[in-house]
Amino acid sequence: MGTEVAWHLACVRCDATYPGLDSRYRCDCSGTLDVIHDLSTCNLTREVLDARLASKAPLDRSGVWRFRELILPLPDEVLEGVAAARGEGSTQLYDASAVGREVGVEDLWLKHEGENPTGSFKDRGMTAAITVAKTLGMSAVACASTGNTSASMASYAAISGLDAIVFIPEGKIAFGKLSQALAYGAKTIQIEGDFDDAMALVQDVCASEGIYLVNSINPFRIEGQKAIGFEIMQDLDWQVPDWIVLPGGNLGNNTAISKGLLELLELGIIDRLPRLAVVQAAGANPLYTAWLGGEDVEPVKADTIATAIKIGNPVSWRKSMRGIEALHGVVTEVTDDQIMDAKALVDAAGIGAEPASCATVAGIHRLVGEGVIGSDERVVGILTGNVLKDPDVVVNYHAGELDGIESRRVNAPISARADLDEIRRIIRQ
Ligand SMILES: *Cc1c(COP(=O)(O)O)cnc(C)c1O
Ligand SMILES: [Zn+2]
Repeated sequence: MGTEVAWHLACVRCDATYPGLDSRYRCDCSGTLDVIHDLSTCNLTREVLDARLASKAPLDRSGVWRFRELILPLPDEVLEGVAAARGEGSTQLYDASAVGREVGVEDLWLKHEGENPTGSFKDRGMTAAITVAKTLGMSAVACASTGNTSASMASYAAISGLDAIVFIPEGKIAFGKLSQALAYGAKTIQIEGDFDDAMALVQDVCASEGIYLVNSINPFRIEGQKAIGFEIMQDLDWQVPDWIVLPGGNLGNNTAISKGLLELLELGIIDRLPRLAVVQAAGANPLYTAWLGGEDVEPVKADTIATAIKIGNPVSWRKSMRGIEALHGVVTEVTDDQIMDAKALVDAAGIGAEPASCATVAGIHRLVGEGVIGSDERVVGILTGNVLKDPDVVVNYHAGELDGIESRRVNAPISARADLDEIRRIIRQ
């Protein structure tokens, strides 16, 4: 590998730094690592980025690698050979004013990350992490996952010819996601325990077996996920919105988006920062509790219908908190009932998303009600995963069969005899 890279790794806790291409994810002091780019040598502009939208080159067509100078600035010739790209990103930013009117903010936009190749934003971080795994010459990758990370890793590893090992919590994974891990050929190990148990185990396994870990503790996952923020800015023709709102589980995504936007500001590609709102499920709210009390994050036992954010011990909380402060952000929480209400709204608008994604819209509703978000402000909400990821929740919601959830927008299937008069009567009702 070439040696002159314009980035290095830095500990978030102490002053230690490490080479840019290193297969470690923690400092010797056990702090997590950041990728620090030398932006003084970066001459990226809006014009260059906009020109790439019209290009046919695979790197330009990827909504991650279009921003490669800020993700993994290897020379283009090197990156063309090694990038594990499959057209990730370039997701739709929906004008969602109809949904917005229901939650009290007219100028609402929804960035649908469920439109990525494997159906969640995880593909953006995964293309970066798998590309680094290939660059480092690794032959196997692993992750602990509530589902979407494993679905994404399994696919990106398969297209790259790497072995994939997935650790999932027992019996608590949405069916769409489990199917993907199996279908794409990952060795899938169900751990007796929850996500946090699986996460602790996979770190030990990777260290002892020389397997590359691609959870969001991996700093390159964060680099790829920054592209969500970049793309939102480009979608809006570089006009910065007032707010970006997203769900928080392991807290990699909000960490990534704030890091990326700070870099765009430093380069002068944007001229101000949006504010950031991170929404947690009330049953998995360690960041919210810490943020309210101004304290360190204390692990909780997580429980929520939104399995993608059912995480009680988020690894990236320190980086996350730093980013929230830099973007003058807020943290809030919403109940499962509010999440499912918001989901029914997003789904019925024809957009559709999995439960965790809809914490975004429930959070916007709450923050507008509290006057934190102004009803005339421009808000971009991120929908993190596809509606098909968790079909059981949808069917059970519309059957009115979800424990503790009031189904207020039921659209249940109607049974009918195969008889024209009966069908007519049903249609006219
Ligand atoms: C992973 C995931 C989240 C949580 O993102 P973090 O980076 O862990 O905070 C939210 N929604 C969906 C659909 C996810 O897959
Ligand atoms: Zn350190």
